[in-house]
Amino acid sequence: MPSKEGAISASLGKPITEAELANKPRYWMGDPPDRCDLNPSHKIEDTFVDGATDRGPWANMCPKCHRAHGRGIGQGQGQRYEKREVEGRTRWLKTAG
Ligand SMILES: [Zn+2]
Repeated sequence: MPSKEGAISASLGKPITEAELANKPRYWMGDPPDRCDLNPSHKIEDTFVDGATDRGPWANMCPKCHRAHGRGIGQGQGQRYEKREVEGRTRWLKTAG
């Protein structure tokens, strides 16, 4: 795993193991966010967090804004989704939270 990815993962909570992901994958339903709710100039690339913020309401955040304004990863805090290719389709897999 590249070090950049490792740093992001560490700041975004305990990841769900690959075995759990293979056994019971959970995917984002509907259209994924294109832009970060907290700063629309941030484009969502391959990871976002649907989570509580220090501003109150929940938001779909880029990892940078989640580090700055998120309330963590876990039940009642936030869920992390990552873009994956699954059987030729782009899907957003829940990888933590
Ligand atoms: Zn952002």
